[in-house]
Amino acid sequence: MQIHRLKLSGFKSFVEPAELRIEPGLTGVVGPNGCGKSNLLEAIRWVMGETSAKSLRSGGMEDVIFAGTSTRPPRDFAEVVLHASDDGDDELVVTRRIERGAGSAYRVNGRDVRAKDVALTFADAATGAHSPALVSQGKIAQVIAAKPTERRAMLEEAAGIAGLHVRRKDAESK
Ligand code: ATP
Ligand code: MG
Repeated sequence: MQIHRLKLSGFKSFVEPAELRIEPGLTGVVGPNGCGKSNLLEAIRWVMGETSAKSLRSGGMEDVIFAGTSTRPPRDFAEVVLHASDDGDDELVVTRRIERGAGSAYRVNGRDVRAKDVALTFADAATGAHSPALVSQGKIAQVIAAKPTERRAMLEEAAGIAGLHVRRKDAESK
């Protein structure tokens, strides 16, 4: 699966609507401290269904909404749209939006869907919100410091083996 495009609005420091194209190959995000590099990675995790406030570095789920600054009022909602495709197949457009006091809602290709449907779409460890392919600053140090057995588990995940376990579990529960 390849992510082509990301649209953010009101998500953390991305207060004004922003659109990013992601070209094939390796993408680097550079910029000064506090410019929003980690927020960008968190936006990708969030639209893929991240449910842990901790891994989004926030106290509660609504904390992802732009909280305002001394010169700008806070926003009422945050929205992230991810455009992806599976090996040149049909485009997949996933939208997640959260409004203050109203929780978050997902759409896939324009249709309202459940959080679970989005989780299944990204069930593969190679593509999901918890994918080892999305490596954040703190995690790099964790990989380096890991004991060999722990590192093996990380590599197995990266190879997509953990994704098979998720799929099997889901199949068994049907
Ligand atoms: P570093 O290089 O230090 O890791 P970074 O580029 O990863 O920096 P981020 O952590 O992505 O930076 O961005 C931090 C900025 O985002 C801070 O200025 C913080 O105030 C802002 N921010 C985070 N959440 C919100 C929010 N809900 N509303 C407004 N601003 C926010
Ligand atoms: Mg950072």
